[in-house]
Order: sequence, then C-alpha cells, then structure tokens
Amino acid sequence: MHGKIRIERNPNRKTKPGLEEALGFGRYFTDHMFMMDYEEGSGWQDPRIVPYGPISHDPAAMVFHYGQAVFEGLKAFRTEKDEIVLFRPDQNAKRLNRSCDRLQMPQMDEEFVVDAIRTLVRLDADWVPRKKGSSLYIRPFVIATEAGLGVRASSRYSFVIIMSPVGAYYEEGLQPINILVESHYARAVRGGTGNAKTAGNYAATLKAQALAKEHNCAQVLWLDAIEKMYIEEAGSMNVFFKINGEVVTPSLSGSILEGITRNSIIHLLKEWGIPVSERKISIHDIVEAFENGTLEEAFGTGTAAVVSPIGSLLWNGTLMSINQGNIGELVARLYDTITGIQYGRIEDSNSWMI
Ligand code: PMP
Repeated sequence: MHGKIRIERNPNRKTKPGLEEALGFGRYFTDHMFMMDYEEGSGWQDPRIVPYGPISHDPAAMVFHYGQAVFEGLKAFRTEKDEIVLFRPDQNAKRLNRSCDRLQMPQMDEEFVVDAIRTLVRLDADWVPRKKGSSLYIRPFVIATEAGLGVRASSRYSFVIIMSPVGAYYEEGLQPINILVESHYARAVRGGTGNAKTAGNYAATLKAQALAKEHNCAQVLWLDAIEKMYIEEAGSMNVFFKINGEVVTPSLSGSILEGITRNSIIHLLKEWGIPVSERKISIHDIVEAFENGTLEEAFGTGTAAVVSPIGSLLWNGTLMSINQGNIGELVARLYDTITGIQYGRIEDSNSWMI
C-alpha cells in the first residue's frame, strides 16, 4: 500500500462543456488530478488529489532528456441506470507495472492504482458525460523527476492521473478507415520497447502517420522491423483479420502492445465459438487472401474506438478494398457487445466492469 489518499478540493470549479459542445478527445480536463511521488529508499509517498493544474519540474528532470515516461489509457462510462463504471482497470494497472519494469521504473501496488482511479472518478463524477457514446478518458502516467544529466535510471518519479471527458469516437456509427501499409519506417523492434506503453514509442510513429495522411489514410499498418513482412499493429490499435471464417491476430511478438480490447475480443470470440488464433501473419498472407477472395473483414481494436473497421489497405501502390468498404458483420457484433457491456445494456458475464 502507498498510504491514505489526501484530498484537497478545488475551490474554483471549471465550467463544464455544454451538452451541445463537441468534446473531441483530450481537450477538456476535470477539476482534480491524482499525484504521488517516489523516492529511492522511501518508496511511493504522499498520495493526494489536488486541483488540476500545471506541474513544475527542474529543467534537468530526467524525463525531459532520456524519456523515462510511461502511461495508460482507460475509460469511465455512465450507464443507462446512471451508474459510473470502469472497464477492466485492473488490466491497466498491470500493464502500467509491466511498462515501468521495462523502463527500469519502480512498481506500484496494482490495487492501490485502481483505488486511486476510483477515488478520483468519484470526486469528479459530474464530469462523466451524459451524451450517447461519450465517456471520461482517464490518463495515468509516470515520469522521471530527478534532476541530473547522467544516463541512468532516475531515483525520483511522479505518478499522476488526469481525466478528460471525451465524445463518441464514431458520432454517426462505425466508419471504415483506410490504412497505409508502412514499408519504410518501423514502430518497434523485438527486444525494444514496443510492448511497453512508453512515450517514445508514440513520438517514433508521428512522421509515418503524417505521410499516411498525405495518402488519404487514417492510420499506418506497422510491419515488423526486421523482415518488414509480419503484421504488428494498426496505428495505436491492435489488428484483426477474418480470413475464410477464421479470425486471426498477430501473436504478441515482444514489439506489440498487449491491448486490453484485444484480450477482451479474443475472449468473446472464444465464448461465441468463432475460431480465433494468435499467430504470425505476413502482409503476403493478406495479399493472397485478398486475391483469392477470402479476406472477409479487417479491424483495429483499442480503448479509444473499441473497434475500427478497415475499409482498405494500401500496400506498395496496390489498393485492397475489404468487404467492398462496408462494415462487416463480425466487427459490428463486437462493437455492439463491448459498448453494450460498457454502457450496461448487456449483462457483464465476465465481471469486466467495476
Ligand atoms: N497498440 C498501441 C500501440 C496502443 O497505443 C493501444 C492503445 N492503448 C493499443 C494497441 C490498444 O490497447 P487497448 O486495447 O488496451 O487500448
């Protein structure tokens, strides 16, 4: 445990965005934030909830120089019964610890992390939006705060949780996206940090993402960095293909982030008796399935969108249109089921909601 959470209420509450205002993603922030500090020798201390606001650090704080920074992303939903629920927050706490471990950062008590999130959400409960499909996005993160320019692990850290009301990812229902298969840049390499949720992984993707936009593609399909052949992820989503009745997703190679949505989808498919396998899939397998007409569906998965149907893949100048650019039956069923569980319309038989 890391002690009792001290609460300092914000005397200057912000005006919340109105019902008609587009919330977007990560534009508004709630009244409070959670913080706790780590110091070598004493461990995590002084857990507190304080008014949301700027944090100040020494310019030599190690996070600014060597990138010891990890984060998480999860959501709180307001159900149709007006209850506020979290989707599998224990899994985010576990992944946060795995990310910390990879970057030589200290571990946290996972139950305490979930408790900190719950306490903060309870305090800012009014910020969980009411509009259909909206939610409260929760962003826990850990940064290295020791001042010093020697390249080594910091001896001090800050753990912070901020929250932002966000709109429905698909305001007008699911929309298929176009994806560019990236054959030059790489996101991550086996043995690197691809399976940790660390800030640098995202910085490394921005150039390719900008180039994809120029090709009218919303995201990049990442291939493995060594053979430039095996499929890894779609932007910041995991990726699934339905080929000849079987659902396949790349196995966790070490350079892929283990998505909580990915895990939930594999679980649901097994429950439904739909064949699903985690294995190496090459871009050539996908081209072949496209050419022989067995590539039935493709979709990305992640907290932000839940599922994102892929309408087309652009690979070396060849455009592969999937399911004639329509939304597949399976992706629609997965979307309805997971959002149904999150908003309390469907029974949560796996106890995913807290
Ligand atoms: N891959 C990457 C690189 C991501 O950033 C995310 C978003 N966290 C995912 C996959 C999907 O993970 P999750 O389902 O846990 O949101």
